Amino acid sequence: MVRGRARADRSGERRKGRLAMTDLLVGGLWAPATGGGRFKTVNPANGSVITECAEASTADVDRAVAAARAALRDPAWAGMSPAARARLLWRVADLVEEHASELALLETRDNGQPISVAREVTVAGTAEHFRYFAGWCTKIEGSVLPVSYPDTLHYTRREPVGVCALITPWNFPLMIAAWKLAPALACGNTVIIKPAEQTPLSTVRLVQLMERAGFPPGVVNLLTGGPAVGAGLAVHDDVDKVSFTGSTRVGRSLVYASAGNLKRLTLELGGKAPSVIAADADIDAAVAGNVQGALFNSGQVCAAYSRFYVDRKRADEFTAKMADAASGLKLGSGLDPESRLGPLISEEHLNSVDTHVRGARAQGAELVTGGRRAEGELAEGYFYEPTVLAGVGDEMTIAREEVFGPVIPVIAYDDPDELVARANATEYGLAASIWTGDLATAHRLAAEIRAGAIFINMPHVPDAATTWGGYKTSGWGREMGPYAIDAYTEIKGVWTHLGGV
Ligand code: ADP
Repeated sequence: MVRGRARADRSGERRKGRLAMTDLLVGGLWAPATGGGRFKTVNPANGSVITECAEASTADVDRAVAAARAALRDPAWAGMSPAARARLLWRVADLVEEHASELALLETRDNGQPISVAREVTVAGTAEHFRYFAGWCTKIEGSVLPVSYPDTLHYTRREPVGVCALITPWNFPLMIAAWKLAPALACGNTVIIKPAEQTPLSTVRLVQLMERAGFPPGVVNLLTGGPAVGAGLAVHDDVDKVSFTGSTRVGRSLVYASAGNLKRLTLELGGKAPSVIAADADIDAAVAGNVQGALFNSGQVCAAYSRFYVDRKRADEFTAKMADAASGLKLGSGLDPESRLGPLISEEHLNSVDTHVRGARAQGAELVTGGRRAEGELAEGYFYEPTVLAGVGDEMTIAREEVFGPVIPVIAYDDPDELVARANATEYGLAASIWTGDLATAHRLAAEIRAGAIFINMPHVPDAATTWGGYKTSGWGREMGPYAIDAYTEIKGVWTHLGGV
């Protein structure tokens, strides 16, 4: 423990311009990976290595699962009162706020997001999430059900699912870690968090702060590493639940991997959110909201608006104003407070975005602005110019596949009666947006579009109190709000015969 603390504290320092290497946390001890494996994490704004992190081995996966299993039975955790659990989660929120600048800087360096987003969305949202679920600890209740047997009492208990593996992506590393850690712990589970290999640093720091908050050893374990670490957790027979946010491809593989012990799965996967701009929409408001909805975090958001169905009568006006607004956003390092758009996460991802844009042009879309990697002083980083495409058709790949980049494909429509079918003609169903002045149109479309969140006349936002998750291949289950309590508890029915034995 002492050795662990010393290591943890060192990792906040800089050495020779790099941060100190980071370790794994298993059963309350910080240590390098068994076998000494490491991987590098890179600043996407300039390609430089920030530091190296421990690459967990199969033996580390086994150790972490065993530690989480033991902690589940440890009276220090299993016997902790709900009020005490609530105070722990609240303390995490306080510590996150006390370390807000440091966490925001780490997130911007590792992920690339503008520092204002890191501060106001990522760090603030992380603290809010812990506070919201701190409140739940004392309110997770069962119910008494009216069974039709004489002299019989029936009540339900909500119990922790058990050992939860939490696998997170690179687009909002800290906030998505909080989306999983806070409700899992509020419900009394023990956890193994596995951040994405591209962006582990803010999660490592968060786990250090959680340790300081006072969770008993083994309740929160950290494994850094690549896909094999996630896959090892998913297939492990002593893991009771996996909560995953990431690609639909990997989500599907988790369904197979979890089949052995039929572990519980929450999957928050890809999206291809339509944004409908009706003829009566306030176009200036729609442009402001859709630029945000499409380009927030450079479009690297699963709920990003990424298919724009615009009434043909307003399509030229909308396209021209979107192009003006998008090209006016300052592209640059997230550390520059003037930057509105940071880099994409990696060279590989930038190439994938560029391939989608080139493919759209080859299929007949018209490039209105952007469509290339940024040059000059930004050439070292993975910056892609915000891109608007006009004349896009439903059949084009750009209108069907998730691009996860700063790309706005505009599709003009003539017949509003076809909108629902066209918006729903996708394998995804995470989010959708509707821009209109007519309440009847707004709520009819909101009811008929098959997606987990509908935003009327506003950009997408998450809130701990609501619900987040998707229909169809966008996933299974819901995060946030009371739905997260369902996701992290098992329900048990208890029957008692009251007529004497
Ligand atoms: P993306 O395609 O957006 O990079 P992925 O779905 O590949 O996202 O990755 C999201 C998270 O899932 C990361 O933490 C990654 O290491 C992990 N991961 C990748 N492949 C697997 C797998 N086969 N099983 C479990 N976890 C995986």
